Amino acid sequence: MSLYGIGIVVDILTGIVIDYEILSKYCPECTTAKRDIGEHSADFSIWYKPHKPECSENYVGSSNFIEVKAVEILRKRSVKNWYAIDEYSVKWRF
Ligand SMILES: [Zn+2]
Repeated sequence: MSLYGIGIVVDILTGIVIDYEILSKYCPECTTAKRDIGEHSADFSIWYKPHKPECSENYVGSSNFIEVKAVEILRKRSVKNWYAIDEYSVKWRF
């Protein structure tokens, strides 16, 4: 299971990263809050509301598709004059 999915678009001639998208199923602040307050408690909902816009957990779904999703987002905003789209994914385990 991967907690992060990364899609990277690289200019094939220069090797420069043109764009990237990082999706995460993990937010350290949420993890701490869930542990301390309890994920299903009312207090957690109160805590979560102002945190939501800055939450780094921006992907909900199957871990198997997290990289696929990252690449999909990149494709959607891809620009015509890109030379090539190269893609790869990195998986970390915690
Ligand atoms: Zn969070």
